Order: sequence, then structure tokens, then C-alpha cells
Amino acid sequence: MALETLSPSRAGDFKACPQLFRFRAIDRLPEPTTVYQARGTTAHLALQRLYDLTPAERTPERLYDLFREAWSELRGTEEFAELFGSVEEEREWGLESLALLANYLLIEDPSLVEPLERELDMLEAIDDDIVIRGILDRIDRLPDGRLIITDYKTGKAPPEPYALPAFFALKIYALLIRRRLGETPAEVRLIYLNGPTVYRIPIEASQLDAMERQLRALWNRINRSLEQNYFPPRPSRLCDYCSFRDRCPAWATVEVMAG
Ligand code: SF4
Repeated sequence: MALETLSPSRAGDFKACPQLFRFRAIDRLPEPTTVYQARGTTAHLALQRLYDLTPAERTPERLYDLFREAWSELRGTEEFAELFGSVEEEREWGLESLALLANYLLIEDPSLVEPLERELDMLEAIDDDIVIRGILDRIDRLPDGRLIITDYKTGKAPPEPYALPAFFALKIYALLIRRRLGETPAEVRLIYLNGPTVYRIPIEASQLDAMERQLRALWNRINRSLEQNYFPPRPSRLCDYCSFRDRCPAWATVEVMAG
């Protein structure tokens, strides 16, 4: 078995914990949907659709309506059904979500933004045998000609010193954009609606060259793991949020020792 494609998220999983990568990408184990994921999916859809409208139509009320419309579509799907214990819980969740979207409007005025692409499905070959696939939230061409890549986050922003790993996926997207458009994006930015907080880093061609080398090395490491069926767990703070902790060998050992 060899890797066919790799997404920036799964690449991040392997770097953080090979066992987590295995659970998600190889075993494809289902993970319980959370209200936070429901919020992220619904908010992304609302923000995507906001930019289908003319600039004058992109008002706060329209954005909130788009969120309500998106949720009424999603709440009936299998993935998001029965997520809330009561109507009050769902209402509370909805109000908190609208507050996040209000935060978004503090960061930028949507009537002044004209994205080049939104929810862009990318499939790019780095080499003949290395193919990266992922969906990019948004890319803008600023009036001065610079390309800016944006990722929306509905979770809480990490403190700034810990934010760097969050840029890993965005740098991969910057590399894919360079391959597709032949141009190095000027900046990648993470918009955390919960805050709101914006983290941004400038991008240089040399950083993308380094990312390309890193991706090649990672691709080879994953293929070696596949050949040897060796995906060691790497316990960290991430375990507190991991859906697979109950079946993870790292934690099974701890339990046996504790028992
Ligand atoms: S519980 Fe921790 S060590 Fe185990 S798969 Fe999840 S992140 Fe990795």
C-alpha cells in the first residue's frame, strides 16, 4: 500500500502523532460530530455564500440569515442530526455562533472584500508521485496585486507563541497556489472569529521551497510507515481532545500499568 494523496490536515496529523494519522487516514474510523464542528461547517458555508452577493448586500443581517439558512439545511443531515439535547441548547449555540459572525465583521468589512476564490478544491502534484489535496477557505487579490490566503477558525485562538503550527496547513496551501498560479502568495492569515484574533505571517519563496522539501520528506516517512505498518502513538496535550483515546495503545498501556 502506498500513499495516493495527502491533505494538509492529515499531514499535520502525521507530524503530531502517526497513530492519529492511522486512525483517521488508514482505518478511517468515524469520529463523533461535535457542536463546535457544526458551528465551523455552518459558519464557513455562510461566509462562502456571503461573497456570492453583491457588496451592497453583504450586511450583518444578511450574514446572520445566511448562517440560519445554512444551519436549517445542515441540521437535517445525518452528520448533524440529534446534536442538541434540547431546543434551548440549540438556540444558545445559535446565538453564540451569531456573536462569532459579529466578531468577523469587526475584522473586515465584507463590502470592501472581493475574493479571488472561496472554498477552492485543490489537487496539485508536487512531484510525479506526490499529490496534495485540500480545500482552501479563501484567496484574495489585493488592489496592490498581492495574493493573500485566509483560513477562518471558529475555535479559540491559541496564545501567539503557540500559533505557528496552525500555519503549517496554510503554508502548504501557499505552496499549492504557487504551483497553480506560478506566483508566491504574499501572506497567509488565520482569522479566529472567537476573540476575534488575526494572526498573519508574510511568505517568502524560500519558505515555500522549504515546505516543498518538508512535504517530500513527510510523504516518504508516511510511505515507510505504511510499508512497515508502524504508526507509533505520540502522546501530547492533543490526547485531551483526541476522539480515539479509548482505543489508543499509548493510553491502554497507562491503564494496564495503573490497574
Ligand atoms: S490519544 Fe494521543 S497518542 Fe493516541 S492517537 Fe490520539 S493523539 Fe495520538
